[in-house]
Amino acid sequence: MSLLNILKQEKCPVCKETLTTDKSNILFSHVIKACPIGHYEKEFIPSLEGYVEHYNVAAK
Ligand SMILES: [Zn+2]
Repeated sequence: MSLLNILKQEKCPVCKETLTTDKSNILFSHVIKACPIGHYEKEFIPSLEGYVEHYNVAAK
């Protein structure tokens, strides 16, 4: 999976807002895409070459 593919814009599955990558650290290939409202967060794990998804990250 290329980095460009990782960084392409995606939508929150709940509210359809564009996910932000503010929490990402590209230097360490650590990419977190998050809903600006906090419904959803998607974290790329380079060692797994896959994503871990979290829902309702702000609903606590
Ligand atoms: Zn959302």
